[in-house]
Amino acid sequence: MRGLSATELLDVWAQGHAQPPPGRALLLLAAACPEFEPAALARLTVGQRDGLLLALYEQTFGPRVTGVAVCPRCAAEVELAFDAADIRVGGPPPEDGPPPTQTLIVEGYEIVFRAPDSNDLLALAADEAAARETLLARCLVSVAAVDPPNLAPEVELPGPAPLSAGTQAAIAAAVDAALAEMDPQAEVELNLACPACDQQWQALFDIVAFFWDELTAWAHRMLRQVHVLASAYGWREAEILALPAWRRQYYLEMVGG
Ligand SMILES: [Zn+2]
Repeated sequence: MRGLSATELLDVWAQGHAQPPPGRALLLLAAACPEFEPAALARLTVGQRDGLLLALYEQTFGPRVTGVAVCPRCAAEVELAFDAADIRVGGPPPEDGPPPTQTLIVEGYEIVFRAPDSNDLLALAADEAAARETLLARCLVSVAAVDPPNLAPEVELPGPAPLSAGTQAAIAAAVDAALAEMDPQAEVELNLACPACDQQWQALFDIVAFFWDELTAWAHRMLRQVHVLASAYGWREAEILALPAWRRQYYLEMVGG
């Protein structure tokens, strides 16, 4: 992974404008991780993707993460601040390859599944009616009855019986629970407390939404700076963006008086 220049960040921001969040995440990583083919980036698990995004966030905006949450009880705004390192799960760096799978036995069925990746999230983003079951169906590699009854060879085998709703729910719950351990970086929970009413709650930290909000705020600041300096000095956008941040700041202060 490498850091992105101001020009590259603005390009990604402009390209991602009309994209759903999973597409934005892939644009950021495609620019910063030339060691991965785009198709390989899309095959990383959501947790692997989020680990890379967290590292890119640190390189781009620094180690500190600050934001605002709303108390579910009294609706007060609660400031939150932590280091990116605090929510890093760790583990080996992601590699391109077949997705890791896990096997569970649930209600007499052996199920093999993999963790969701960006292709799964993009498919869901494209079809808003698709529910969580669709994601589960995409990630199930196989479902087979354990110890099927021995049938005489001449008996015609019946087609597979459909799973009962209860069994399907049990499989969904078991996979959900296993995924939290299999791909922990995909679900980062923050423990929050409201200073106004002492309410305590947990909230999921969405690195893609957070990164994109920060990037948008940064892009707006940057475009204003370009406008001010281009108006004052007649420099071109590319020249202004290529300046180190501290020199841009210096000229801005002089223009501002
Ligand atoms: Zn509160």
